Amino acid sequence: MDTPRLEINLMKITNNTRTIVSLCENNGIGVVGVTKGVSGMPQVAKAMLDGGVCCLADARIQNIKKMRKAGIAAPIMMLRLPRIGNASQIAHLADISVNSERHMIRQLSHEGLKRNQPHNIILMIDVGDRREGVLFSRALESIDQILAFKGVQLMGIGTNVGCYGGVIPTEKNMGQLASIAIKIHKAFSLPLPVVSVGGTNCLKLIEDGKMPAEINQIRIGEGILLGRDSSTGRVLPGTEQDAFQLVAEIVEIKSKPSLPMGILGKDAFGHTPVFKNRGIRKRALIALGKQDVRLSGMIPVDAHIKILGGSSDYIVLDISDSAQNYRLGDSLRFHLLYPGLLSLTTSPYVSHVFTEDSP
Ligand SMILES: *Cc1c(COP(=O)(O)O)cnc(C)c1O
Repeated sequence: MDTPRLEINLMKITNNTRTIVSLCENNGIGVVGVTKGVSGMPQVAKAMLDGGVCCLADARIQNIKKMRKAGIAAPIMMLRLPRIGNASQIAHLADISVNSERHMIRQLSHEGLKRNQPHNIILMIDVGDRREGVLFSRALESIDQILAFKGVQLMGIGTNVGCYGGVIPTEKNMGQLASIAIKIHKAFSLPLPVVSVGGTNCLKLIEDGKMPAEINQIRIGEGILLGRDSSTGRVLPGTEQDAFQLVAEIVEIKSKPSLPMGILGKDAFGHTPVFKNRGIRKRALIALGKQDVRLSGMIPVDAHIKILGGSSDYIVLDISDSAQNYRLGDSLRFHLLYPGLLSLTTSPYVSHVFTEDSP
């Protein structure tokens, strides 16, 4: 079989989805399946839908297009703020988009009027992570402005924490979003169908029964795909972590001194590498490199293999301590973390193989 390849077990993705959907539904919360971690791979999106997500979301319009082309008709949310001038494409491909800029919302409204089909908006509110969204204190003012646009439907409000600022979801910041929902309800006597939070790091509050009752939607990517919450390094109860595995092939095995010889400059990525003298070591090179994968996002299945480093096209491994007698042409397997999965599904050099059972 071709290498490097990403092996994908769709059943495990569906099972992870079911586990998370059932936890959230018991708390009155719908789950949005976020596909950006796999570059909108349609088979994975379908596995999420089979597991019971209410809709899909992705941050790239190209990924949404890919899913539409594959025949996915479920509602899809555009997760990254749209670009000015892109309103027509957004309204065409996505049912819902997150927004924070009045000028953009005006464009989406024009588009909605043109199509005679209002575009659904989720107004993003910054409760502290300092990435996208209007400040908590300005939320009501923004709502007032949005309501003047007749070609958009204010579907709800949302927030994101953790991804940029590393802010942890708490009863307090989630409560801020909830309190805005209550205020909007009072001030405008509006139905506000969606109060949305994300991502995976918000699951802990739900597990602990501490998510405010007004929150009724959660956007989950990593938790479904990998069964992990990388904000705390936690494994999610009842999920599997190996729906994805990376396979790459050994193209050289040699025993070499662990220290380079010669005058050292910077490596191909502008860093000055640091080496530890561990004597002569048995090393393997695999045909996969930093062009394809973030090294910090992959973990050898053989726990006695150590990743020493890499360049664009090779990863250098220390295999001295392994009990296996590896040979040229052997395949090595790796578990994946979110940055690994994201980079691998972005690389055109990595093939995708769908497996039924665990490898
Ligand atoms: C990526 C993203 C998510 C999903 O985050 P995970 O941690 O992968 O679950 C949710 N909301 C927004 C706005 C995102 O960009």
